[in-house]
Amino acid sequence: MKVLVINAGSSSLKYQLMNPDTNEVICKGLVERIGIDGKLTHKRSGKDDFVLETNMANHQDAIKQVMAAITDKEHGVVASMSEIDAVGHRVVHAGEFFNDSVLVTDAVLEKIDQCVELAPLHNPPNILGIKACQEMMPGVPQVAVFDTAFHQTMPKEAYLYAVPYEYYEKYKVRKYGFHGTSHKYVASRAAAMLGKPIEELKIITCHLGNGSSISAVKNGKSIETSMGFTPLAGVCMGTRSGDIDPAIVEFIATKENLTVSEVLNILNKKSGVLGISGLSSDFRDLLGDETPNKEKSMLAVDMFVYHVKKQVGLCAAVMGGVDAIVFTAGVGENTEYVRKNVVEGLEFMGIKIDPVLNKERGYELDISAKDATVKTLIIPTNEELMIALDTKKIVEAK
Ligand code: AMP
Repeated sequence: MKVLVINAGSSSLKYQLMNPDTNEVICKGLVERIGIDGKLTHKRSGKDDFVLETNMANHQDAIKQVMAAITDKEHGVVASMSEIDAVGHRVVHAGEFFNDSVLVTDAVLEKIDQCVELAPLHNPPNILGIKACQEMMPGVPQVAVFDTAFHQTMPKEAYLYAVPYEYYEKYKVRKYGFHGTSHKYVASRAAAMLGKPIEELKIITCHLGNGSSISAVKNGKSIETSMGFTPLAGVCMGTRSGDIDPAIVEFIATKENLTVSEVLNILNKKSGVLGISGLSSDFRDLLGDETPNKEKSMLAVDMFVYHVKKQVGLCAAVMGGVDAIVFTAGVGENTEYVRKNVVEGLEFMGIKIDPVLNKERGYELDISAKDATVKTLIIPTNEELMIALDTKKIVEAK
């Protein structure tokens, strides 16, 4: 089976053609500057990149160029688009409508559209990507895979905020959680690595990247996650503050003569480890030997570690125990210092890692110490594969 995975942003579009039966990536690429001018970079393993700069006015033009690249005689990987069995789309927000991936119909598109007010930057380009594929590939099943869906299993006491209940009823103000596709993928890989059914496991998944979230996955279901109504909540991140006392927003606005949305912009783009270090949002810069202002850089990293550790404790508490902790995404997969310090002091919970194994990075590995009763795992995330697998499952069940 061949599944085209599409992740459409406002002016960019990432794609991967995958075989979900073998996990093979047949080709992948990126279209940038849609609506500005247009650049496509198309990659196949063992071959030079094919780069095309041509005008792309909208997402239809972008998909047209992706299709041309995939079927190109010289750079392509299939003879014609009829070889593509289905398209899987990353869609950020499903509100409370979907707790799993779905086949796209007009009614589904209408519901994704209703979630635009919850994800005004993300859902509109996601919809454009779906519509462009529907138009350019008529009759090919389109599947939507949502970032929020996996967390829809959280119980009410976990997802409600203690504000007047009518705000939930009228405006759907609640915790949604994000990175669901990644949490779902690494939790299922963790169960496979442990050789146990996911329905019998309590797993803490730490997706630590530029954006970070930590989830409690009990018996295969997300029951708690650190992000909230928006991806600003939870632990501090590359540029996002994570949880702060909401009263700070008005306080800073008054002191600095800013509007609420200007303060929110600072909390989203100028805070987190960037805000504390004053240097960078990238952990490689903060942990580098040459880093100027090492003290503030390490303070930023140590604050991040502390926030993650608190979430690990929280997740263990709400699940009533833990069998495995997973580290994934850019920081989780690559940063020995962060993993070491997140689990340090958690020996009382049975969590202990092997310092030599913890030096490894970038591939699936059990880094637990021999005497640990809780497994600590590095699992590279693969959201595209999860989207392809979900797409296959839905199309085959049709
Ligand atoms: P992601 O959002 O998952 O792509 O993660 C991006 C972040 O991962 C970067 O901003 C870095 O902070 C971090 N990162 C990526 N590669 C490394 C590495 N080799 N060592 C340390 N941190 C890394």
